[in-house]
Amino acid sequence: MGETSRFATLYTEDLGKLKITAKGARRIKSKFGAALELMSEIDAVFYVGKTRNIQTLSECSLVMDPPNVTQDLQRFSLANAALEMVDKITIEGEPNRRLFACLRGVLRGLQEVDVNQLEVLFWYFELRVLDALGYRPELRSCTVCGAELRVGLCGFNVIVGGGVCRSCGDGAYQDISFEGLSFLAKLQALPAYRREILPKEPICRAQIRKLFQSFFAYHGLIVGNLRSLSFLESLDRDYIGSR
Ligand SMILES: [Zn+2]
Repeated sequence: MGETSRFATLYTEDLGKLKITAKGARRIKSKFGAALELMSEIDAVFYVGKTRNIQTLSECSLVMDPPNVTQDLQRFSLANAALEMVDKITIEGEPNRRLFACLRGVLRGLQEVDVNQLEVLFWYFELRVLDALGYRPELRSCTVCGAELRVGLCGFNVIVGGGVCRSCGDGAYQDISFEGLSFLAKLQALPAYRREILPKEPICRAQIRKLFQSFFAYHGLIVGNLRSLSFLESLDRDYIGSR
């Protein structure tokens, strides 16, 4: 492979995750131009070899510029966390159009939501990702007995896949307030990644972060922390020990 070639990972609507090489992409007058920038949305034509792990990019054109997040560390880190998450939970060559829509939605959303909606947007993305993978958590009623969850009498159990009332929890639940579960239930019901409809952050952020982390870990999707979120933790003491 020549020194002017460039490797990249694409998440595509039709073919899922693909590793590609773009020959000559590092030349000043490359035909790929700026289309291969991180987070940009492109139309790509490539040769798919059945026996190769890395496909060869033939042509590409920019559909949408990368989201305008590079000036803000939290927006940029969350955008990277979204990419990192999709990379970790997918294997090459398995398309998932809903997951593609999730990624597109969160990257667009991160450049326009207010500061106090940023983490909420990321949680919304996580809920949508779980939907797209078939792991939708139950957040309104007890996952075991179906009773409506009530203030002070509920928790979350990753094994049964949702909220539980205290009598069904049998000690195997993690604490989350009724407010936290209700907040997530409302978020789960929202139709889009838009600033106008996203609520502001609730008080119980640490419980919600822990809930997502244990849910993704239980299903073997992401074990440990996402690198980009660890980076945010190292900067923001509010994140420390809570994710
Ligand atoms: Zn119950």
